[in-house]
Amino acid sequence: MNQSYARPANNRSRNSFSNSNNRNRSNSSGGGRRYGGGGNRGGRKQGAYIDPAKFVNKVAVIAEADVFVPQHAFSDFNLSPELHRNIEARKYTQPSAIQDGSIEPILEGKDLIGLANTGTGKTAAFVIPIIERLKSIQGRPSVLIMAPTRELANQIDEEFRAFARDMRIYTALCVGGMNMYRQIQNLQRKPQVVIGTPGRLKDLIQQGALKLDRAEVLVLDEADQMLDMGFIVDIRFIVDQMPKQRQSLCFSATITPAIQTLIHDFLVDPITISVRTRDTSDHVEQDVIKANTHDEKYAVLKELLDQPEFEKVLVFGETKWGVQKLADSLSRDGHRSEAIHGNKTQPQRQRALKSFKDNQAKVMVATDVAARGLDIPNVSHVINFDQPNSYQDYVHRIGRTGRAGKKGKALTFVPRHS
Ligand code: AMP
Repeated sequence: MNQSYARPANNRSRNSFSNSNNRNRSNSSGGGRRYGGGGNRGGRKQGAYIDPAKFVNKVAVIAEADVFVPQHAFSDFNLSPELHRNIEARKYTQPSAIQDGSIEPILEGKDLIGLANTGTGKTAAFVIPIIERLKSIQGRPSVLIMAPTRELANQIDEEFRAFARDMRIYTALCVGGMNMYRQIQNLQRKPQVVIGTPGRLKDLIQQGALKLDRAEVLVLDEADQMLDMGFIVDIRFIVDQMPKQRQSLCFSATITPAIQTLIHDFLVDPITISVRTRDTSDHVEQDVIKANTHDEKYAVLKELLDQPEFEKVLVFGETKWGVQKLADSLSRDGHRSEAIHGNKTQPQRQRALKSFKDNQAKVMVATDVAARGLDIPNVSHVINFDQPNSYQDYVHRIGRTGRAGKKGKALTFVPRHS
């Protein structure tokens, strides 16, 4: 249980790894020398203090209760044969909890609040029934899906295409950072489904390239994130273009007062499907690594990456610049790494993501915002090179590992004196 993740490179890094086996105990007596030297301290620059004890959980368990028993088989849902075939081709054998609860009411045209986060299968929970509904809806576009980030919108688009294969259903992806002219051309082809981020969708509406007066289905995905990112005005502008008579679906990991207002304003008599998500701290093994300077952290990180079990590693950094620099240094030192942050163009981000997903790069270094909502399977380790700004961000970060009933591991660098 108490094994260290890496052998110290030298005396300086001895005791780098926490020996705490008690997640309630603060490491405040951490002891050891402090290596301040220069302005290169590894400590946090902003955000609230988080007790380092919250980054430790040595006893990761996969609880029995995590094995979900659905009420339905996919064959129970009244879906066309092509759609059933595509579900099979994707190797979905049984519905996840959010799919189990949502597919039928969405097929019936009801408004729905889905309380679920990334990793629960929420995308297919709305994509599958919407594809079926499209058989009886004529307007173009008839479906509008809004998501907070370009990557998430892209993932939804990919899922849509996979499930709608050979069904003559077309989508247009409208996100920032990509060529707007191409998106306008795609919209001119009159797709049934438009998927996008609020800023770009609004631009396209204002240019007259996107008209939503016949759209009958609205999906707000990761609504809480969209509000956090300040999209509320854009969202209201966009939804105002749609007919009042429509089906509205709102997916969110949390219900804040702002989400409640949104639901009140946009949804009519909705049903709520809540998916009990596992407490991340239970199924992700967590530990801290004590190190003070950037160089010290970097040396330990390199050692960790040399170990075979560090197969697919997501590293979080604080600044766009720092994230890029870290990825470049790791690549130079033989650990092929990609960086994903707000300074990259959308095609660059997509290339980086693909390279990491396809296991060409072992390491992805990311900022919090860039990594939001990303579905990257089989991340073996999350490493917080820089600490998150809030415990909520921490939980988001470590939720990238330990998915689909697997155990994950998360390591967080903390200053030695903490
Ligand atoms: P999401 O929460 O929509 O981001 O989905 C998380 C991951 O789970 C994606 O890689 C999906 O392809 C996968 N997934 C979703 N539903 C199922 C299912 N019923 N069976 C197997 N995999 C699924």
